Amino acid sequence: MGEGPADRVGGSPPAPLFAIGHHRPVYLWAGPGTIRMNRLKFMDAPVDESVHLEAHTLTGVTRLARAASCNWAYLTYNWGFPPEVEREDWEAFRQALPVYQAAGIRVFGYVQLSNYVVAGTYAAKDWYAQDPRGRPFYYYTGRYMSCWRHPDWRDHLRQMVWGIVQAGADGVFFDNPWHGTQPQYSAGAWMGSAGCYCPSCREAFREATGLEIPRQLDPEGDERSRQYLRWRADEVTTTLAELAAYARELNPEILISANDFDAVMRPSYVTYGIDLEALAKVQDVIMIEDYGLPAWRGGQQAGPERLVNNALTLRTARALIGETPLSVDPYDKGIGFDRVYSGRRFQQAIAEAAACGATLVVKGTEFVEADGTFTLLTAEQYGEEREAIGVYHRWLSERAGLYTDREPAAEVALLHPGAALWERWGALAPLYFGAGQTLLRAGIPWRTVRSAADLVGVTTLLHVAPLPEEWQLPEEIALIDVSALPGWAPAPPSFLARHPRLRALAAGFLGAAYRAYFRYRWARALIDRSGLTERHFMRSPGFDLPPEAQRATLLEVVGAVRFPRVEMETPVLVEPWRQGEQRQFHLVNYAESPQTVRVIFAESVRGEVLSPDAAPFTFSGTELALSLDVYALLIYR
Ligand SMILES: [Zn+2]
Repeated sequence: MGEGPADRVGGSPPAPLFAIGHHRPVYLWAGPGTIRMNRLKFMDAPVDESVHLEAHTLTGVTRLARAASCNWAYLTYNWGFPPEVEREDWEAFRQALPVYQAAGIRVFGYVQLSNYVVAGTYAAKDWYAQDPRGRPFYYYTGRYMSCWRHPDWRDHLRQMVWGIVQAGADGVFFDNPWHGTQPQYSAGAWMGSAGCYCPSCREAFREATGLEIPRQLDPEGDERSRQYLRWRADEVTTTLAELAAYARELNPEILISANDFDAVMRPSYVTYGIDLEALAKVQDVIMIEDYGLPAWRGGQQAGPERLVNNALTLRTARALIGETPLSVDPYDKGIGFDRVYSGRRFQQAIAEAAACGATLVVKGTEFVEADGTFTLLTAEQYGEEREAIGVYHRWLSERAGLYTDREPAAEVALLHPGAALWERWGALAPLYFGAGQTLLRAGIPWRTVRSAADLVGVTTLLHVAPLPEEWQLPEEIALIDVSALPGWAPAPPSFLARHPRLRALAAGFLGAAYRAYFRYRWARALIDRSGLTERHFMRSPGFDLPPEAQRATLLEVVGAVRFPRVEMETPVLVEPWRQGEQRQFHLVNYAESPQTVRVIFAESVRGEVLSPDAAPFTFSGTELALSLDVYALLIYR
């Protein structure tokens, strides 16, 4: 990781714009382009057209602005259709923009950075990214990944940015900053190629390093692979920085965001070329799209206990991105699979994000009805869900002052392994996520740290990779090497990782299945039915809790009871902050129903409980029992 090639160009946005409570965004692909795109992407899936058109009118906009109290919307400008088709979508964007802005909603215009629809005048384009055999690489159905070195593609991207700024949008949102082909981590090994192997990309890498782009990647064992992956990630950041600079040149007030897709829970550095730390410097607000919509599955059911959450992602990202504001857009199963979430689940996600120092981007699009018809959050029948979102948005907006000028106060810290995490993903990711999940499940607050400077207030430091040699740790910090604990040793390299020939064979098979999935209806039905799509592409193994015995060994060394201590039945997120003289203790219930929690303090305290679910009340003493529906914030001294 380290310093990226991009420096912030436009400076910070006006102070509170992207602060918690002030920033209440909704992700809302709609209009004719989205109708067309859903049909293409999901092979003629039914789409509720009237809902998709209504979202751009006063009726749809009012539902978002009033009921859900949203004040930012992500609207599509450019899906990547050829211009003779897409002209209609640009016009729809230009018409929707003033309707949103008049209702007090600012607008990000969407640019598709890395792929295009192979149809019409785009069918003959030679700007597709090439795999090592010169073949194009699919992005869903009917679309190919593009090569960012191709001059025509770069011109095209600049035109899209120009169109959005010219229309009067408040911001430009860059989706899918992914470079070329994408290797998959499967069965403990990296399979497939990364990036683009066209003559121009190969020449550029040769010029920079004197090396050829590796056809099979081995980030752990091969320095050339690591060198290439760093070069590719820098290319991604540089391209985004150039486009951001161009947008700011056109309008210095324009705000920039990008989709830093699932940058924590999956090895996005290797798969896509996403370097979150470097990309943060280009953006005014970070947006991480992921599969972390909170969900708790206890031990009664088959399989491991599983706690899907965004705390892992947000705590990690916060440590990587410096002062750039953070937002997150979590899914449940994924695009094309999710019904509109219940009001309670939206509230859990909003509360979890706020507790962790971030903003939820409310997912408002690419939902399906029970019969598979595509719909949006703006559809008339989702009034209850919009109201539930609005209750939380208004509550946060009125209390925005509680979420500024705070210092994280968790005493337990987890050291981020840095570049070693993507280099040795198979060995280190299970330890890093496993330790985080174990603490989370036990109600022990923790934060991610990157450097010795982050250790203020830390009493226990857990690490999964060796500590940097130059670190001088104060003696009072207890140090725990997670990999040395019983049951926590990293898994040995998998069978496929040890046998390069078999790995190449498996990679060939996986690549063929990938191509068939996006090409043939029968293959997609077969693969979806087998559950492979969900397991392989959507479900992160990082959310499975380690077995109970393994968790116990870690909790034993983390040791002594820490205060405040929380007693609960099912998992609750516990996030402490310090704001001036006051202490904040955020509690978010991950369960499907309310539960009673007891908070036990080290000494007698006095304070107040604030919650969007109930009236505020004061408390004092060494103990507090409260009924926690979704979210409560204890403020005390
Ligand atoms: Zn290329």
